[in-house]
Amino acid sequence: MKNIDFNSILITGASKGLGSNFAKVLAKDGFRIIGVGRSEDDLNKVISELPNSQLDHDYLVLDITDENQVQEKLKNIEIYGLINNAGIANTKLLHEETYEDINQIVNTNLIGSLNISRAVIPTMIQNKCGRIINIASALGHRPLSYVGAYAATKAALIQVTKSQSIELARYNICVNAIAPGYIITDINRHQLEGEAGEMLKKKIPLRRFADINELDLLISMLLNKKNSYMTGSIISIDGGLSAGL
Ligand code: NAD
Repeated sequence: MKNIDFNSILITGASKGLGSNFAKVLAKDGFRIIGVGRSEDDLNKVISELPNSQLDHDYLVLDITDENQVQEKLKNIEIYGLINNAGIANTKLLHEETYEDINQIVNTNLIGSLNISRAVIPTMIQNKCGRIINIASALGHRPLSYVGAYAATKAALIQVTKSQSIELARYNICVNAIAPGYIITDINRHQLEGEAGEMLKKKIPLRRFADINELDLLISMLLNKKNSYMTGSIISIDGGLSAGL
């Protein structure tokens, strides 16, 4: 892996869903992508098909919950932007979650994102330049039944975003979060493609789930170098879900 410059974006969970789409959009914008995930085959496929291949896009196979692995694999990485996108969810009443379930969700969505941020922030501080985008969720603002553990981790990620925006502003590192509503991907397909999905649509003012491409403009804008005064913002793209009762 070559050391890099101020044009690289590291995206966790890049092998599918929102992460692979962010990779495509940002590669098209002219950024060099470093995809992070657990499956080499899936990552290789996504990264090898990205536009602007002359930028030397690359990938790192790692589990974001493994702090030692993260520190080791990211120690020589110099990046302009990080998207903490990898995440997992389950559907259980909170009091019926096992500790194993809860540990897994917290370790991925919260601790995993912190592991990656902690590994890249020292170099961003030295460079006095960086952008971190945390992928939170509308559920981090307004939970629903059966996704309480997930919602709690996303609420925590929103507070991490705000705290780090304050702590890192002096180093010219901007930290923002996106709080998406519902987009059908592997994380929720089982839930959204059935009757529960139809009921959920009725709670959304726009009465539909988002198309994955409806996040494209925002991710481009957050990483655009001209967008230099936005930090500590939690931006909702949720069809109005979090706007009111
Ligand atoms: P997805 O299941 O398609 O993708 C999640 C990715 O994260 C996968 O590539 C998975 O392998 C990776 N991942 C999970 N655990 C990992 C680990 N320990 N180490 C490395 N990679 C790991 O889901 P998605 O919908 O693309 O979700 C992406 C992010 O967007 C998640 O944080 C999710 O919570 C958030 N989000 C999704 C929606 C939605 O409706 N799809 C809504 C709000 C927020």
